[in-house]
Amino acid sequence: MPDRKGQIIFIEIKPNTGIKAALAKARAEVIAEIRNSDLRGRGGAGFPTGVKWNLAAAASSEKKYVVCNADEGEPGTFKDRVLLTEYADDLLEGMTIAGYAVGADTGIIYLRGEYEYLRKHIDEVIEKRRKDGWLGNNIGGKKGFTFNIEIRMGSGAYVCGEETALIESLEGQRGEPRNRPPFPVDTGFMDCPTTVNNVETLITASRICAKGAEWFKKYGVGRTTGSKLYSVSGDCERPGVYEFPIGAKIAEILKEVGGMNAQAVIMGGASGKAVPAKVFADTVAVVDAPTGGSVIVIGPQRDMLDVAENFLEFFVEESCGQCTPCREGNSLLLDVVHRLKNGTCSMEYLNEIESLAETMQLASKCGLGQSSPNVLLSIIEHFQDEIFGRIPVA
Ligand code: SF4
Repeated sequence: MPDRKGQIIFIEIKPNTGIKAALAKARAEVIAEIRNSDLRGRGGAGFPTGVKWNLAAAASSEKKYVVCNADEGEPGTFKDRVLLTEYADDLLEGMTIAGYAVGADTGIIYLRGEYEYLRKHIDEVIEKRRKDGWLGNNIGGKKGFTFNIEIRMGSGAYVCGEETALIESLEGQRGEPRNRPPFPVDTGFMDCPTTVNNVETLITASRICAKGAEWFKKYGVGRTTGSKLYSVSGDCERPGVYEFPIGAKIAEILKEVGGMNAQAVIMGGASGKAVPAKVFADTVAVVDAPTGGSVIVIGPQRDMLDVAENFLEFFVEESCGQCTPCREGNSLLLDVVHRLKNGTCSMEYLNEIESLAETMQLASKCGLGQSSPNVLLSIIEHFQDEIFGRIPVA
């Protein structure tokens, strides 16, 4: 295993410390510990994990599910792939703790289609945990606690990273987001209460059970606690997966990865925002510049409109087409980028498209259409010389 350094995920810890501590407590106490830690979902949406677990635990049903969202599809994000490869045992431990806390007996890993090659490895880890008594019946000697985990494959659709589209896909339907409410914690997979958490969140929860909420809260800024994994790619000397405590500034991350001459970073991948170099020293990753973990370094030689074009082509391809603002809007955003690049965009048209982008953020049904205009809008805001310089004088 590579020598990874970190404060929460990449610490050295004895296997199953978290689940042993969790099983020594009542279910409600485990949820209280997670709530007290202020852990927020690490997939991007940032919903408080303890609140989600509490809602699923409170839902009345004979059958409940824990789903691990391992459909890591955000361009520029590959931290979950590293965790699934090197920390699969810790992930299964976190899922089992979640199962205990919410009262579920079944866990499902929804694995990104492109990660099919990891399936055999994860299945082997599942089997080993079953043999060792950490899956199956009476887990860890806890009478009556049964939990099993299976893997289901995704098929490469970006929108299935959204939890209700993921559940539709799990049920064998076309992967399209559902209307909410009802929420999955109440009516999820097969209409049963379902808690959906991402890979990093579940491993972090197991660390919190092992070492306590107060330890976890020593890291972070205010109520944004703990650490974050970043998938760093693009124009830097040392791309890879890094763990930093929340509170790290963008400049610190760039120093570590050798990307100090960047003109911008895209925080949060294709659905994130462009952050210009002039604010690197003051911008706190996650807090000021939200990200599910993707940090794409943009060197000085790049054309920012190429960056926007690349991401918008992705969204035109990945929109599920269910709602009009997203289906039509992404094509029109891409069109304005083409016009800017070939010198045929007027100021009036650019203004019109900016207002369309804002409508998409408000009126699209799911996170894809709500966030797909972000990169273009932030480039227009922060790179005005580059954008307005391409508009022909009337
Ligand atoms: S916002 Fe886009 S991806 Fe989401 S439901 Fe509407 S068309 Fe589908």
